[in-house]
Amino acid sequence: MVLHDSNPPMEDPMTLEITHPTSRPAEIVDAAALRDLCDAEIHLPGEPGYDDARAPWAASVDQRPAAVAYPRSAEEVSALVRAAAVLGLRVAPQSTGHNAGPLAAQGLADVVLVRLGRLDEITVDAERRVVRAGAGLVWEPVVEAAAEAGFTVLHGSSPDVGIAGYSLGGGSGWYARKLGLCTNNLVAVELVDAQGRILRADAEHHPDLFWAVRGGGGSFGVVTALELRMFDFATTYGGMLFWDVAHTEDVLRTWAAWAVDAPDEVTTSFRVLRVPPLPEVPEIVRGRDIVVIDGAVLADDETARQILAPLRALEPEVDTFGRVPTRELIRLHMDPEGPTPVASSTAILHSLPESAIASVLEAVGPGADTAIDLFELRQLGGALGRPHPGGGATSHFEGTFLTLALGIAMTPERGARAHEEAHALTDTLAPFANGRNYLNFAENPVDVASFFSQDAWRRLTEVRATVDPSGLFVGNHPVPGAERESGS
Ligand SMILES: Cc1cc2nc3c(=O)[nH]c(=O)nc-3n(C[C@H](O)[C@H](O)[C@H](O)COP(=O)(O)OP(=O)(O)OC[C@H]3O[C@@H](n4cnc5c(N)ncnc54)[C@H](O)[C@@H]3O)c2cc1C
Repeated sequence: MVLHDSNPPMEDPMTLEITHPTSRPAEIVDAAALRDLCDAEIHLPGEPGYDDARAPWAASVDQRPAAVAYPRSAEEVSALVRAAAVLGLRVAPQSTGHNAGPLAAQGLADVVLVRLGRLDEITVDAERRVVRAGAGLVWEPVVEAAAEAGFTVLHGSSPDVGIAGYSLGGGSGWYARKLGLCTNNLVAVELVDAQGRILRADAEHHPDLFWAVRGGGGSFGVVTALELRMFDFATTYGGMLFWDVAHTEDVLRTWAAWAVDAPDEVTTSFRVLRVPPLPEVPEIVRGRDIVVIDGAVLADDETARQILAPLRALEPEVDTFGRVPTRELIRLHMDPEGPTPVASSTAILHSLPESAIASVLEAVGPGADTAIDLFELRQLGGALGRPHPGGGATSHFEGTFLTLALGIAMTPERGARAHEEAHALTDTLAPFANGRNYLNFAENPVDVASFFSQDAWRRLTEVRATVDPSGLFVGNHPVPGAERESGS
């Protein structure tokens, strides 16, 4: 299918009847009428399929929309958006629900949750070095399709994160310090706008909209397909090093000093990990507390070995770094797959001095009694730290380290404790934080504006007010229209 612009016919009555969606109280919204107005599969509260249909990847999040829709094509999304507007419902696009927490927290009683999982076509154009992928896809099949043609795409650490939410929110993966954010490598998106039109947004068509969705996320329309740049390499020097948790202090101190000055070619993550005692976990780490550094070097083997030498000098128990096909990095980080209940907190740090290291050791180091199963520091800087020419609302990160403190919420009590301890650790690190939130990592409601420069935030709110004046779309980290922000 070719990306195209299409306007609903002028005589279409639904286009003329679009009302301000938030002006109607939720209790009088008749979501069942969606079935009369569009062909998408619709699930309503009280029906047998509703609970499965609304279940997000973030399994501890209880999202209860007025309806859940599963469209099969951009045309069905278009009809759905127009039907929702006519009925006074708002529209929340969602791919996997990895970041469902901040969306559900907004209240979904007058919202149609649009699950995009059935938009799953992939077309590789080797000549243009572009893969066009349906917005419901997760990373693994897209990585595989690119790899089959000898290319690499800028995926993240998890095979089952959605390409849409990841790319529209930034997207930082194993090549980020050399090649930047994934969102900078979006060539185009196909999007259904608030009028139900199917648009192609790229550098030439709807450039303001294209600028806004690249980092501004899901407040501007329902993206139905993405065109992503592919890179002409198929191997990298990647892998992991790990030690027993007893070595946390040495490893963290060395890594933190090394990370700041490391060349752009390398992107790594440092983690303290409490590995669950599950049979499917390799025996060598099963049930253990370990310290892990993993990542990739985009350089020849000898250069990569030199770059990693200071970390290898710490004599890891296991060292898997070596030349590997890039497709193998999709599971390097051992991220949980399938629905998982999590509680987490995040920040971006400008530095990690001794006192910050001491706080980390106290919270998650050897002997800590904690519900934080994972504490991660991702290495920023390099291309990630530089504005990208022609980039969108988010084209780089300011800061040196991205943190994530996370616990698996196997019970509500465990989840509450993990939430509290993860936020307490983030608070302790606040003196070293730059006050910004990487929205893709923020699994709780946060100050959305804090991630953007003042100019970018002003422009985002202006674009929102222009393309979605009635506030039809509900993003997980919402960008309000300019008129709302000023209170009018
Ligand atoms: C296990 C795990 C690993 C991760 N690893 C990384 C990583 O390595 N690097 C990184 O940068 N981030 C990472 N993340 C964060 C991830 O990028 C965000 O959770 C992202 O929002 C997930 O996108 P999604 O589409 O899967 O989630 P969803 O919850 O489905 O989407 C999040 C939001 O994106 C918007 N959106 C989604 N689809 C559409 C669409 N089709 N049209 C318009 N808007 C849409 C909506 O506003 C939606 O609420 C990870 C998260 C987890 C849980």
